Amino acid sequence: EAKTSGKNRYHLFNSAFYDAMRARTRREKELRAAIANNEFVMHYQARVDCRTSKVTSLEALVRWNHPLEGVLAPDEFIGLAEETGLILNLGELVIDLVCAQIARWSGGVYASVPVSINVSSRQFNERDIRESIGDALARHGISASSVEIELTESSMVVDPRRTADNLQAIHALGVRLLVDDFGTGYSSLSMLHNMAFDLLKVDKSFTSRLGKDENGDVFFQAIITMAHSLGMRVVAEGVETATQVRILQALGCDELQGFHLFRPVPADELPHSLEVAA
Ligand code: C2E
Ligand code: MG
Ligand code: MG
Ligand code: MG
Repeated sequence: EAKTSGKNRYHLFNSAFYDAMRARTRREKELRAAIANNEFVMHYQARVDCRTSKVTSLEALVRWNHPLEGVLAPDEFIGLAEETGLILNLGELVIDLVCAQIARWSGGVYASVPVSINVSSRQFNERDIRESIGDALARHGISASSVEIELTESSMVVDPRRTADNLQAIHALGVRLLVDDFGTGYSSLSMLHNMAFDLLKVDKSFTSRLGKDENGDVFFQAIITMAHSLGMRVVAEGVETATQVRILQALGCDELQGFHLFRPVPADELPHSLEVAA
């Protein structure tokens, strides 16, 4: 009897395992097709100057317009895309979609606003990213100063020397560089100092601690002071309250991004003026 139930459990586990495998394989096929059919759209979330509230930049955030499931957020497919290597093609598609949009904006209010593109670790380490970006800029006839690249700390620790060289090459094009989700990985400010970063985006988990415990403010202040002394501007991400805005202003933060200011929206739903922040 114990033996039987053990065997049943084995079958149960076995079939759950194969179900998961099948679901994953199906998802991978869908994702491959989605890239071929371009089922992706970019949403854009503004970043604002901490003092003037003026829009300084837009972050491009990918969405999958799934034919049956509706709009899927990156958390539902970026991980799989990275594991399967599909991120290399998806990443190229994202760069192309963003550069095409920037070209469309020429002459309008957003012509002077750079757009930052999230680049994943594999895309950065396995592709000639300088060439990908350089080609896209040329193809769409836009200037290097109209794009920024966001890279997380975890993408740098793989091979810091090579990362530094790659970053330098991209920077030489005139593209600004941002560290994304700072504080969640293993990089140190001194390691970042050897890389050509212009801006540091402090992870939203640190923003959410502001005003709640004293250490939250002190920690953020320390990051700002050190980043400034290394010549980097600081962006607080995940700003959700007026209290956080007030504290960040007092701490001397440079830029803010978060639902309290702007939510990510499709290009045609962006505000018509750059002066209308909260
Ligand atoms: P991220 O680059 O750190 O982007 C910020 C995420 O926080 C976005 O989620 C954004 O919608 C969300 N967010 C913005 N303001 C707030 C706020 O006030 N509160 C909270 N709770 N969240 C806020 P999203 O769009 O779901 O993207 C998640 C992650 O997926 C991104 O994190 C980025 O790592 C990745 N991702 C997005 N687009 C791309 C892309 O085109 N390529 C690659 N490789 N990764 C991307
Ligand atoms: Mg980002
Ligand atoms: Mg981030
Ligand atoms: Mg993040």
